[in-house]
Order: sequence, then C-alpha cells, then structure tokens
Amino acid sequence: MAIHFLLSSKAKTLSLKAIYAGGEDKAYGTFCKLRWADTDGEAVCPRCGTLGAYAMKTRRRFKCSACSHQFSVTSGTIFANRKMSFTDLLAAICIVTNGAKGVSALQLSRDLGCNFKTAWVFSHKLREAMAAETKSHNLEGDIEIDGCYFGGHVRPENRKEDRKDRRLAEHQTGKRRVVVAMRQRRGRTLTGVFKSEDDSVGMIQERVRAGSLILADEAASWDVLHGWYTAKRINHSLAFSDDGACTNQAESFFSRLRRMVGGQHHKVSGQYLHQYAAHAAWLEDHRREDNGMLVRRALGLSLSHPVSRQWKGYWQRAQLM
Ligand SMILES: [Zn+2]
Repeated sequence: MAIHFLLSSKAKTLSLKAIYAGGEDKAYGTFCKLRWADTDGEAVCPRCGTLGAYAMKTRRRFKCSACSHQFSVTSGTIFANRKMSFTDLLAAICIVTNGAKGVSALQLSRDLGCNFKTAWVFSHKLREAMAAETKSHNLEGDIEIDGCYFGGHVRPENRKEDRKDRRLAEHQTGKRRVVVAMRQRRGRTLTGVFKSEDDSVGMIQERVRAGSLILADEAASWDVLHGWYTAKRINHSLAFSDDGACTNQAESFFSRLRRMVGGQHHKVSGQYLHQYAAHAAWLEDHRREDNGMLVRRALGLSLSHPVSRQWKGYWQRAQLM
C-alpha cells in the first residue's frame, strides 16, 4: 500500500538537527543564496545594483565597490536589524513551517530559548512575507467561495435568568469578524477579513477574473455574484456536494484555520486575523511540498520582502504607547 506523502521520507528533507549541525556559516550561505538567487549568492548592492561587493568577512557585511554603500544579507528585507543568529532564524522558519496549523509564539520562544517578544514579532514578520506571495495573484476557473466567523465571543451569565439573547446586536461585542476565502480548484487560496460577508463582494470582483465559475453555499450575500459570474450554489442543509457543486476545498481551508486559531493561538485579535488567515492559506496551498522546500520558499519570500512597516520596532513603539 502506498503511504501518504507526508509520512514518506520525501516529505522530510530538512531537520533542526541538520540546521544546527551545519552551523552559522552554512546558514549564512543559505541566506545569501536565497537573497541573491539570480547571481547564485553573489552580493548585489541594494543601492546601485552593482555586483562584486567587497565582503567584510568578520562582520558578515558587504561594501559596494562602486558606491561604497555598506549592507548585509538582510538589509532592506523583513529581517533587517535581526537580533537572532542565522541558525536560529532558519530553525524558527523550520519550526513554524513544520507546524501544519502554525506554532504559537510562546511555544516557539520555548523551543528556541528566546524572548517571547522576539518570537512574536518574528512570527508576524514571517506571516507578512508569506501573505505577499499571492498579493498580486488573481484567480480564474472554478472558484469556491465561503465565509467563516471568528471572535467576539460573549460568555453567557452563570444563571439562566441573567442570560441575554446573544443573537441581538446590542448584546454583542462588535469584535466578530468573518474570514472570506476564495479557493481556486487546482490553484491558490486568497483570503480577506470583513465585518460581514456582504462587505467582501468588492474583493471577490477584484480578485476573481470574469468568466470564472463561482461555487458557493446558499447564503444571500453571494446572490449578487450571479451578475458577474456563472454561479453554482449548494444548499448545505440538503447536501454537501451535488453534481460538482460543493465548497469542500474552501471548507478544508477553514478547518485548518479554525484548528490554528483554537489549537495554537487560542485567541487572536481581529486586527491580526488576516495574517493568520493568510498563513493558513499558504500552508494549505503548499501542503504537498517537502519541508526543506517550504523553508526555502518562506525564507526566499522573507528576503525579497521589504522592511515591515507594521512590525519594525514593534515593541519599542508599544512601550511608548
Ligand atoms: Zn552600490
């Protein structure tokens, strides 16, 4: 009997043991190779684009031979001003991408023996870089669309006579958000976070090409999509799949996201929900790649992503607030 891909040795091409046994020089080499993939790891000046920078070996910095600009392998990227060593960064990416439903910052800080704040900001930077992979990607073909609500839980009162009708708007927290997923069959998964499914229609129009087939459930929010697309609807109270009409792939994305939020992070703020959704979509779309490939992909995305406006100096700013 054929074993599942994830159980086979082909799925496991990188381990923490290998990263730490390789040491700092080898990890640094991996960073250079992925930052300057087009020149096979040879440094390119980020200011003037000149090749052949002088390597200041002891400090792992470069000096451009043309404009004298000094830079490092992470300058201008999301890992600029890194505090972590190259091996720790590589190990952190490995731990996070190995987690099929992500890894909490607290757990990561325990595994690496680093500060919680470091692990928290690192994880968010990595998610931002992962999300950028599909930033300018649009979908076409058969697209499953669905929404799933998160947050805004109101704990019921202890005594029955004190309990309120939590379905009424005045008894809710206003923090409830819906993640809307658009998943192309044999393609990518794109996500967005909204107050209601109705609000997501603009994103769908923007990201799903005309002429596509939309597959969605009977929720009234999707009725308007019939104006732009061919749409097949499935009434989930009658069947989950009917003549090819189903949202099973969108559902399996939500299954991963619910387990990520409930099982790893326990509580996520609506402010960051879009990043967790993008992380789950990335894992879903690359679920059949070996873990060495996932680490190279995530590192490559991080090194081609500019400094994060949201996460650069996050804790310094947090202290000032
Ligand atoms: Zn230069």
